[in-house]
Amino acid sequence: MTNKNQGSVLIIGDGLAGTLMAWKCHQRGVKFVQWSDGSPAASDVAAGMFNPVSFRRILPQWDAANYAETAREMFQAIQQELECKLRHDVPVIRVFPNERYAALWAERIAEEGEVAQFIEILPRTELHPSLDAPFGAGIVRSAGWVDVRMLTQKSRLLWQRLGLWERRSWAMEDGCPVGFSTVIDCRGVGVADDLAKFGLEVSRNHGEVLTIQTELDWGEQTVNNVTWALPIGSGEYRIGSTYRWDMDEPLVRPETIENLTEQVSTVRKGAALVATDVVSHRAGLRPACFDRRPILGRISSKSPWYFVCTGWGTRGVSIGPTMVDWTLDVVSGIRDEVPDEVHPKRFRTFTKN
Ligand SMILES: Cc1cc2nc3c(=O)[nH]c(=O)nc-3n(C[C@H](O)[C@H](O)[C@H](O)COP(=O)(O)OP(=O)(O)OC[C@H]3O[C@@H](n4cnc5c(N)ncnc54)[C@H](O)[C@@H]3O)c2cc1C
Repeated sequence: MTNKNQGSVLIIGDGLAGTLMAWKCHQRGVKFVQWSDGSPAASDVAAGMFNPVSFRRILPQWDAANYAETAREMFQAIQQELECKLRHDVPVIRVFPNERYAALWAERIAEEGEVAQFIEILPRTELHPSLDAPFGAGIVRSAGWVDVRMLTQKSRLLWQRLGLWERRSWAMEDGCPVGFSTVIDCRGVGVADDLAKFGLEVSRNHGEVLTIQTELDWGEQTVNNVTWALPIGSGEYRIGSTYRWDMDEPLVRPETIENLTEQVSTVRKGAALVATDVVSHRAGLRPACFDRRPILGRISSKSPWYFVCTGWGTRGVSIGPTMVDWTLDVVSGIRDEVPDEVHPKRFRTFTKN
């Protein structure tokens, strides 16, 4: 180990979690080195959408307003340094599936609860002509997407150029490599076997996304009818996602093409998407915990050098910037523990050995 690494933090993984952790270290002046073994990353597949509203029950996402602000600041700062556009503000239209849902949407606005600041009823005059929405539609204006792939790829190149990135594998049995003070484990679902030894279950949530190229004009806004179609420019749309708990490998299923293209087409007038519109079909494994919260911080008193930052589930882009902040606060001794809602102690099976 060369002296230049002395006392550095070693970040394992260069998906979204490892990448944001590296940027947070960079911003705070914490010396770091990043290793990744190149195994499949959920971040290579992610559509990168952020949306402060959970559409199932029309409620705000977990602490949405706070996380959104931290995320906005962080992605803006990174895109300035990388000199590229990573964050795109794109409203999301929720097509109401029935009268009951439309009434609940209106009720949530009238109640003036936390979610009311994010949702509006979309005037019929603003509805894109391609949309078929007999029960109307709502709009969330403070939504959008981050180009996660561009972020991870450009960041990797930068750290590589600065001599801070290496293609290397790591597992907990390797311990804290000589010269490093700390390991921050951002291996996504790759943490599962090591954390299982402490009674912590990180599950693999399988998801697939399509990219399509179409001549159809589907407008400039994301449209959600459980499945979503996200415009990414030049006639391309991302269509997704699927969610399954019964697949341990990031494999694509051929039937997904028909299922997703059919589903998004049901809210459009005129021609439907067809399989030949699909230009890419990808699958990934989201790291997820039982309560849909991440798992952060120190795990074992016997390995005080080890910290984890994973379990970002479906919401890496929205919550990630806050999650790396909290983790690094503990690593740097700014706070003793991460907040309870992301602490390993909330797992009843947690064995602190
Ligand atoms: C289909 C799909 C759609 C999604 N859409 C969205 C979305 O719209 N919005 C959103 O916010 N989130 C979305 N997500 C979720 C998002 O992708 C995840 O929350 C996030 O990418 C997780 O990042 P991560 O860095 O923890 O894991 P990963 O991206 O999986 O990265 C893990 C990293 O660890 C490395 N690694 C693994 N094992 C080792 C080892 N032994 N040694 C060294 N390195 C190792 C891997 O190579 C990789 O670099 C989606 C996910 C999927 C699958």
